[in-house]
Amino acid sequence: MASKILDSFLSENLKDLKDKGLYNVIDPLQGANGPIIKIAGKELINLSSNNYLGLATNQRMINASIEATKKYGVGAGAVRTINGTLKIHVELEEKLAAFKGTEAAIAFQSGFNCNMGAISAVMDQNDAILSDELNHASIIDGCRLSKAKIIRYKHSDMDDLRLKAKQAKESGQYKKIMVITDGVFSMDGDIAKLPEIIEIAQEFDLITYVDDAHGSGVLGKGAGTVKHFGLSDKVDFQIGTLSKAIGVVGGYVAGKKDLIDWLKVRARPFLFSTSLTPGAAAACIEAINILTESTELYEKLWENGNYLKKGLKDLGFNIGESETPITPCIIGEEEKTQIFSKRLNEEGVYAKAIVFPTVPRGTGRVRNMPSAGHSKEMLNKALAIYEKVGKEMGII
Ligand SMILES: *Cc1c(COP(=O)(O)O)cnc(C)c1O
Repeated sequence: MASKILDSFLSENLKDLKDKGLYNVIDPLQGANGPIIKIAGKELINLSSNNYLGLATNQRMINASIEATKKYGVGAGAVRTINGTLKIHVELEEKLAAFKGTEAAIAFQSGFNCNMGAISAVMDQNDAILSDELNHASIIDGCRLSKAKIIRYKHSDMDDLRLKAKQAKESGQYKKIMVITDGVFSMDGDIAKLPEIIEIAQEFDLITYVDDAHGSGVLGKGAGTVKHFGLSDKVDFQIGTLSKAIGVVGGYVAGKKDLIDWLKVRARPFLFSTSLTPGAAAACIEAINILTESTELYEKLWENGNYLKKGLKDLGFNIGESETPITPCIIGEEEKTQIFSKRLNEEGVYAKAIVFPTVPRGTGRVRNMPSAGHSKEMLNKALAIYEKVGKEMGII
């Protein structure tokens, strides 16, 4: 018999979310996740994906994935530490290390898994972690899993970080102290102040950990935020995902050889979960080949990002302080933001509302993610729809 306690827990909580209009219904896409998507038979300009370079549908990568699948099969068959590793996983890690400019790299099944595995492989209950208050959920969970003391500092506030690093160091309570930050913050599109963070880290002997999920492929000619600032030899952990700009799935840590060797024997998702499929590994390798051969997609992404930003700003929208192609359009009040996003959808633009608790109350926004795959025509059409809905709702 089913559990009555579970039944009532679920029905009460689901009802509560639905009553408050907070229950998220997931739209099934009738086709690939490209610059135009089809939902319920209707085509929409897609400004919601993390497919920054349009690589999710890249033909060279699709072909590489098919070839590898034919050669190695659809699945890796086992955890790498138990049944040996496929050559293609080693190739991927060598490619990633070369691309990032580090001694070595280790691939995981996702960016989320990287943070589950890498933090707790090094940090424990005798340690402390200084964490930016706006860090991604997977960083927060990874920190909790390590059992280290978590000390949050105000978002990108270097005075607060310095103060808390000093207090932690001088307390003598902790064996190791780490500072951990997103490279690019996904809700506002701002970049972590890495040069200052590294300076503070050197002053107080902190381990440095940068999760560059939204920076990889987007900054530093594709190599990420750390490269953008020329700090490749000064950051201990460089985390990246293969599921955003790279367009496939997976995550990785790039760093010194000793660190990577340690993660291969201590990071639990690496030890207890089957690795990436051969097809995914091959597609990721081809993506890095594409990024290494030419900066064309990278330049197109920035051109499109700047074009959309200027267009929205000229129309009179508040687009915040983004330093990357991520373009928030800040509406403010939660309900108004939801209605705005719904109206954009009805007119042909797919751009999701992001509201409290994901962002602070009163800063509801529709977040736009332009990509290299968008044409000027698509962006112009999106801007015309923004203008129409913005005027209709008295926002501009
Ligand atoms: C998206 C994201 C992740 C998760 O990456 P996946 O590969 O999708 O699991 C981790 N960290 C940050 C900062 C992210 O933005």
